[in-house]
Amino acid sequence: MPEKVVIVGSGPAGWTAAIYAARANLQPLVFEGAATKENNDKGTLPLGQLNLTTEVENFPGWPHVDNDALHIFSKFALPAEEFDRIEDYYTGKRAHHGKRAVYGPELMLYMRQQARMYGTRIVTDDIVAVDLKRYPFQLRSLEGQTVEAMTVILAMGARANYLGLPSEDRFKNNGVSACAVCDGALPRFQNRPLVVVGGGDSAVEEGTYLTKFASKVYLVHRRDQLRASKIMQQRAFDNSKIEIKWNRALDEVLGTDEKGVTGARLRSTVDNQNEEVEVGGVFLAIGHTPNTDFLRGQIDLLETGYVRWTTPQRTNTSVPGVFAAGDVADSYYKQAITAAGTGCMAALDAERWLAEQGHH
Ligand code: NAP
Repeated sequence: MPEKVVIVGSGPAGWTAAIYAARANLQPLVFEGAATKENNDKGTLPLGQLNLTTEVENFPGWPHVDNDALHIFSKFALPAEEFDRIEDYYTGKRAHHGKRAVYGPELMLYMRQQARMYGTRIVTDDIVAVDLKRYPFQLRSLEGQTVEAMTVILAMGARANYLGLPSEDRFKNNGVSACAVCDGALPRFQNRPLVVVGGGDSAVEEGTYLTKFASKVYLVHRRDQLRASKIMQQRAFDNSKIEIKWNRALDEVLGTDEKGVTGARLRSTVDNQNEEVEVGGVFLAIGHTPNTDFLRGQIDLLETGYVRWTTPQRTNTSVPGVFAAGDVADSYYKQAITAAGTGCMAALDAERWLAEQGHH
């Protein structure tokens, strides 16, 4: 028997779709992604981008609360093995003291558990190929599992971009990163100057976060104006540890295999003059690419690779019965709450579509 709903992805969009589909008695099957080294390097591990962040201050329903309260909540809300994964948030050297917002990985585990509680089945594997031209749809996983589905909800999200310099590639995991929050606290970055490339909210947020550890942060931006929101811009201007390198592009990451990153060569975007700065790390914060590689030729994608939503106010795609939710189709809002919102919409759209076909 084909599955009624297969959900691909495990960020806020995927879990919200699963919660709604499970409660509509559609017994959703979620492919949450594989915990492989390649996914780790690309930034596409299960639980999505929120799993790569610290405090989430703008997800409604989660005001600041004492760390001890979150400790108790997690202990009672999560299965023991999942609580164990995050216990160091509450006890031990890395534990936070006092009030804080919910952490991204906590929030994701809560969502996952909520979906599971209503009967969602979860497979820890990637979908690597789909045939959406036949019906029921067919999906194949990295480990070789094939499933048939009456509806599919695409919720694979997006991943951080890199510039594509060979030197950037050479020093990945040796001083080059696209996730300050994942890697910023590593000893190699402590008390050393660092570069952050980009001028958007992410660049300012990551730069600000890195000033906790770094002696100085050079924010390298290709123009003479930040793209970041006014409040974030002000945060960068007010931080004495941040120096903005206006009109500069990262030309080369400098270093040795032994020491990793030791510097960066910056090129002026105005007169092409080069300048070198001594730094212990380079962080990229230059936007995202949707995780849609396996969809090429199967469904309409925008030029940027995002899945095209075909109907206003709906999550329909160019293939009837296939719906998309979250950052995989949204290059505009890209927020956890909007991903969750479209995840809910996708489950309702799938349920109604199945009913229209007489399947439900
Ligand atoms: P973004 O807003 O698209 O900004 C990307 C930045 O990288 C831009 O400044 C862009 O320069 C630069 N860039 C892109 N490609 C480049 C290249 N090849 N070389 C050099 N620079 C390059 O992306 P984002 O900062 O990741 O933010 C994404 C969304 O999430 C936004 O809607 C943002 O508001 C939101 N967000 C919000 C928060 C928050 O509120 N706390 C935090 C993070 C993200 P140009 O400006 O010249 O195009």
